[in-house]
Amino acid sequence: MTTEHLLEVKGLKKYYPINKGFFNKTQGYVRAVDDISFTVGKGETFGLVGESGCGKSTTGRSLLRLIEPTEGQVLFEGQDITKLSQEEMRRKRREMQIVFQDPFSSLDPRNTVFRILEEPLAVHGVGDAKERRATVERLADVVGLSRAHLQRYPHQFSGGQRQRIGIARALSLQPKLIVADEPVSALDVSIQSQVINLMQDLQREFGLTYIFIAHDLSVVKHICDRVAVMYLGRIVEVTNKHSLYTTPQHPYTQALLSAVPEPDPDIRKERIILQGEVPSPANAPVGCAFSTRCPHVMDVCRNVRPPLAETGPGHLTACHLYTGAGKELFA
Ligand code: SF4
Repeated sequence: MTTEHLLEVKGLKKYYPINKGFFNKTQGYVRAVDDISFTVGKGETFGLVGESGCGKSTTGRSLLRLIEPTEGQVLFEGQDITKLSQEEMRRKRREMQIVFQDPFSSLDPRNTVFRILEEPLAVHGVGDAKERRATVERLADVVGLSRAHLQRYPHQFSGGQRQRIGIARALSLQPKLIVADEPVSALDVSIQSQVINLMQDLQREFGLTYIFIAHDLSVVKHICDRVAVMYLGRIVEVTNKHSLYTTPQHPYTQALLSAVPEPDPDIRKERIILQGEVPSPANAPVGCAFSTRCPHVMDVCRNVRPPLAETGPGHLTACHLYTGAGKELFA
């Protein structure tokens, strides 16, 4: 991993208008992604973690413009891809691919695996038929599928094998960045580790950079270099995985980690049970997004949004417990 940035995300927002009434007027917005910024280094695996509905998948899709961002910049190798035309973006997607959670629904059931892997090459005009066949066979080799598998259809494979096909398809155009959206969540635990090991091998072989989206902190621990924790469309903490697991600072991260099962039966940890539900992103709190559930909530938290500020070397946390910004404002 190098410290050179492959991706810089600045002030990214994705708002969905809520239209109501006879004239279908916009009455408000669902703030699915609410002003987030982060960087991803070349060769890094950057995790985006949070509960269902926190905006992590919308973020992943917005980065590739599979969903158009409402606002913000996405700098890929220094170029703001939000400014590219549809045609320019189509070409740029060769370098930025996605692996979906459910490989079955993302693979066309009417096509053989050969056709599924060849299609991106044909669409982008890569090589002639003979060269494309050679590329597809090489892809099958690197993800551990046999030549015989290439003539089969997606329904003839197990979940783990289907995810290998999804990864092979993402690799076909030799991308620099792969957004992996919950790539192992639908798989059995034993198969999860096989797919994660495969992704790590491929990263070493091809110098890939990953954005790894997951709701499960124990999964990201094995693969990610740094992790951003999201809550209600915002990033509440970013740090390397060691700091995240040993010295989590944001109360939400602490609660998430307390729920991760501990493999050593001699180690006992106290589970932090959060009260209440995650608020609707259409009606998010004015101040800290976590203020309706936080066991440490102060008055300032309900009124002032805490900035994502440095709370340690390479450790950013959005919480008034650390910044003290609220104390100054309310003194
Ligand atoms: Fe809790 Fe306040 Fe920190 Fe939000 S800012 S996490 S409500 S202490």
